[in-house]
Amino acid sequence: MIVVLSGGVGGARFLQGVVQVVPQQQITVISNTGDDREFYGLHVSPDVDIVLYSLAGIVDAANGWGIRDDTYNTMQQLTRYGNEDWFLLGDRDLATHIHRTNLLRQGKTLSEVTDNLRIQLGLDLRVLPMSDQPIATHIQTPAGLLHFEEYLVKHRSADDVQDVVFVGASKAKPAPGVLDAIKQADAILIAPSNPIVSVGTILAVPGIHDALHEASGMVIAISPIVGGAPIKGPADKIMRGLGLEVSAIGVTRCYRDFLDVMIIDEQDAHLTREIEDLGIPVVVTDTIMRDDETKAALARTALQAAGLTI
Ligand code: GDP
Ligand code: CA
Repeated sequence: MIVVLSGGVGGARFLQGVVQVVPQQQITVISNTGDDREFYGLHVSPDVDIVLYSLAGIVDAANGWGIRDDTYNTMQQLTRYGNEDWFLLGDRDLATHIHRTNLLRQGKTLSEVTDNLRIQLGLDLRVLPMSDQPIATHIQTPAGLLHFEEYLVKHRSADDVQDVVFVGASKAKPAPGVLDAIKQADAILIAPSNPIVSVGTILAVPGIHDALHEASGMVIAISPIVGGAPIKGPADKIMRGLGLEVSAIGVTRCYRDFLDVMIIDEQDAHLTREIEDLGIPVVVTDTIMRDDETKAALARTALQAAGLTI
């Protein structure tokens, strides 16, 4: 069994490679739910949905989130009623959030609801939210403490990052199955996701960091920072704000407690020596996930780095 720690877009694109080389029944995804938030009274789980839509083949590939060819009639009417419109939710996407919220109100847990959606979308892998308890990533900025989606979407990541706070994390527990999956995994792959606000959030759930440290399967990470910058998103601003070096070295430092192998891009081959000096072996490969072939090749490289023959 393979475990993948995943955020949204970077994680989902990596998973599109993993499912090409490992049967879905052998994959467990641990998904970041620190971006979850209510919009119009509905529970939205951005990263979980990006993963589900991407693997179900219905994602809007240009955006990396939402459902392809969706329409926005509901939002137009909601804004007529004076609601904010900075977080775009398409009509079909809203059906997911209505369905999720409805089941949560009936007393189902976030894990149960996520599993329900996963089945309805025809997927055979396990997708576990990192926790069933609410955890909300907030960014401390000179303008105040902003929910991560507010910082990212409404403020377009323009504010200086002073700190990152995972509200609720210290009191949260890993969702059922999360620690066992890590314990039983033949390999644990850390997707090229944001090391602070995607993977860092998962690591902030008490017990997960220690489980990775104690895992018998190898822990392999892929750097989302290539040539000193993220492919997309605010990882550079957030890492810099926390005083971390924006490079594959900075990413390695985030994971060094439990990491067995770091996978970095060919463009960063010159960093190999410095990362190996941290005590972490390095694999250099093409990590740019351009198409199905490059995604599958990256997944294969990660599994081989974990000592698995596929
Ligand atoms: P989010 O939750 O939607 O922000 O997505 P993630 O946290 O899962 O992924 C965001 C990270 O994915 C960014 O830091 C990007 O640099 C990284 N990323 C996206 N595409 C690629 C790619 O093709 N290769 C690599 N190495 N990283 C990528
Ligand atoms: Ca996210």
